[in-house]
Amino acid sequence: MMRGIFLYLSICFLVLSAKAQLKSPEEFLGYKIGSRYTPHWKIVNYFNYVAANAPASVKLQQYGETNEGRSLLLAFISSSENIQQLESIRMNNLRLANLAKDKAAPSEENAPALVWLSYNVHGNETSSSEAALMTIWALVDPSNTRTKEWLKNTVVIIDPCINPDGRDRYVNWFNSVVGKNANPLRISREHREPWPGGRTNHYNFDLNRDWAWQTQVESRQRIKVYNEWMPQIHVDYHEQGVNEPYYFAPAAQPYHDVITPWQRDFQVTIGKNHAKYFDANGWLYFTKEVFDLYYPSYGDTYPTYNGAIGMTYEQGGGGAGGAAVINDEGDTLTLLDRATHHFTTSLSTIEIASLNAGKLVKEFRKFFNDAVSSGTGEYKTYVIKNNLKDIERIGSLLDLLDKNGIQYNAGSGSGKGYNYNTGKEESFSMNNDILISSLQPRSAMVKVLFEPKGRLVDSATYDITAWSLPYAYGLTGYASRDRLNAGTTITKRKVVNEETNYGYVIPWNGIQTVKTVGQLLQKGILLRFSENPFEVNGNKFDRGAILVLKTANKSLGNNLWNEVRKTADANNVKLFSVTTGFVDKGYDFGSDKVHPFKAPKVVLLTGEGIGSNAAGEIWHFFEQQIDYPIMLVNVSDIGRINFNETDVIIMPDGNYKFLTDKVQTEAFKEWINKGGRVVALEGAVGALSKAEFGIKIKKGDEPEKKDEKETYEVLKKFEERERDFIPTITPGSIYKVELDNTHPLAFGYPDYYYTLKMDDNVYDFIKEGGWNVGVIKKDNQVAGFVGSKLKNKLKDGLVFGVQQMGNGTISYLTDNIMFRNFWENGKLMFCNAVFLVGQ
Ligand SMILES: [Zn+2]
Repeated sequence: MMRGIFLYLSICFLVLSAKAQLKSPEEFLGYKIGSRYTPHWKIVNYFNYVAANAPASVKLQQYGETNEGRSLLLAFISSSENIQQLESIRMNNLRLANLAKDKAAPSEENAPALVWLSYNVHGNETSSSEAALMTIWALVDPSNTRTKEWLKNTVVIIDPCINPDGRDRYVNWFNSVVGKNANPLRISREHREPWPGGRTNHYNFDLNRDWAWQTQVESRQRIKVYNEWMPQIHVDYHEQGVNEPYYFAPAAQPYHDVITPWQRDFQVTIGKNHAKYFDANGWLYFTKEVFDLYYPSYGDTYPTYNGAIGMTYEQGGGGAGGAAVINDEGDTLTLLDRATHHFTTSLSTIEIASLNAGKLVKEFRKFFNDAVSSGTGEYKTYVIKNNLKDIERIGSLLDLLDKNGIQYNAGSGSGKGYNYNTGKEESFSMNNDILISSLQPRSAMVKVLFEPKGRLVDSATYDITAWSLPYAYGLTGYASRDRLNAGTTITKRKVVNEETNYGYVIPWNGIQTVKTVGQLLQKGILLRFSENPFEVNGNKFDRGAILVLKTANKSLGNNLWNEVRKTADANNVKLFSVTTGFVDKGYDFGSDKVHPFKAPKVVLLTGEGIGSNAAGEIWHFFEQQIDYPIMLVNVSDIGRINFNETDVIIMPDGNYKFLTDKVQTEAFKEWINKGGRVVALEGAVGALSKAEFGIKIKKGDEPEKKDEKETYEVLKKFEERERDFIPTITPGSIYKVELDNTHPLAFGYPDYYYTLKMDDNVYDFIKEGGWNVGVIKKDNQVAGFVGSKLKNKLKDGLVFGVQQMGNGTISYLTDNIMFRNFWENGKLMFCNAVFLVGQ
């Protein structure tokens, strides 16, 4: 008994003394930070340890899980007073932003500043999660009195790793190839990361392009919490090439014009604070160059458009950084150096926030008060027509607005405004249409996402220059300078389908329809699609409408209709029951204009030589959006594909070296001739064109006579060399494409489509053996930036086409209609190519 009590007391003593001596990362992990890579599970362990042993100053929240099952964490660190009332701090902060549901008055005086630090969004930019370990330790280390002072008026929110799957892909690879001692020479294999690299998440998405769109599970879970907190400062930690000095705020031009003078000014204040520490250590840095604030889906712009000071910090390193690397100047850059720099800006950011906490909160409140009282920009209301045929596209748009906390209503009556489709000011009527007011808390975000043409102050941006949602979602809309009255709230459609004895028709409306169709096909149900419009039982149906009939589905008996209804109900897709195959207008169901089709077996080419993002977009779309099986095959194994068991081969952007091999090309052609169907995108179209498959890149028209300006154009200034390439680029601008929507590739579309043009290629019209389904006529640019020299080239050419080859087809999609999975309106065309074309 005595022994038992003694043992109990000893354990108590051990526990107490452990608490008294909170362990640093080095003590906990057993090595000095920077001396090796910390795998994600150990980062999680340390954060858990700190939260468990310093509960008064740290609160840990697991906000989600990645595709590969790793934890996503947030640590809230502040004074014990603040941590005790964390929830009321959060609520008060939402009230400051006019975002709280309770409408209670906020208190500005004692509100702490919220500083949110996001580490390692790009998985192979690894020093930042190591810096996160150093940062949390500096904040909780009992002997660090300086940070305790800051935490009195500041709450620090640390996300130690936004992209754990990517980070571990890099770290596990690096640890598997590094020798006993790290080799700093860049030619050694530990600096040569293999395809697809650790930058992206599981599906090879760049999470730092996904903040607004939230196509990825990591983004969706994180931004939900982000929007429940709304920090005053957000920092996104990155790495760049090993020769680059450190980069911090202020950012480069172009700045979007919704960014306020206060947001610009405070970037300078922060930058100067960092400079103080970097100067003291003799570390090199640059500001105001390269990293601009325009595209809304970054970790700096998204927070900025949501009222914060949003910033990107960049350290030299990345995938080529290894544990140590010799740069071009002959210096050795170590993981410890990299982590230390990020750690320094982390503390400097918290310090400057604390010194200006009152002002940060005041300006934050002003940002949202101005938004609610006067809106942002010239347009006060954006109107989206609530057309029945657009029901699925509208559903996707409303989901996007919900994910971003943007408010909308339904409205009727009349108005006038800019018609996105005609480009003119027009009058219009509204009948329960969707109204998005500019006068709301997230007014800046509304303007950025909806304005027809953004104003670019500098064309040398880092990313695409146009994304206006009515174009991206293929919707009819107006931007009005008037405050239009929105009456009722919108109730989203909930479908419950009726029974049938004869058959169902499913209008070919969008992605939910495709998902339903894909699931029915997988159940072995044979479907048909009508290539012509028809009318039956009082309903009109457009081209591409899907028919489910008893014929060829007898094996399912009466269960057929239950299965169809269950699947459609689950996807919220409306079925139209029909009682006869004798149509009132159009072709009867037995006509050869009605095409039966079964579940295609689909192969996606992937691996070295293929664009990893491009392949990932398709992989993710199949698995996570339409839930249809797809087999990924490395393009180097093309010779091993069992062509007899393959219906569709998808070729994402890539260089396709196999097309320079005669034998492999012939085998590929033979499969197509026998009925194989190819879907080729972007660079794949170029590769097929070089291999003489029958499509040709259009050459630019030579201007006939040079004017004086053009003659002297070659005399350019050395100082302006970085701008030289601008006349020949299109960094993602929007073009209007004319569609032949009688072809299956364009079913479900009107006779036009807005495409995001990413490169300078259009193709010659197909003269025979194919169809020019989508073409750019004249100069049909709608929004965004296009270099002056390209304007002439990007006209009168093919963008989408289908070539018949024997019994097979090749669908040419020369633009990336699946871009980042956010260009919603391209997805149906992609599905047309996979499921309908060539059937
Ligand atoms: Zn990065």
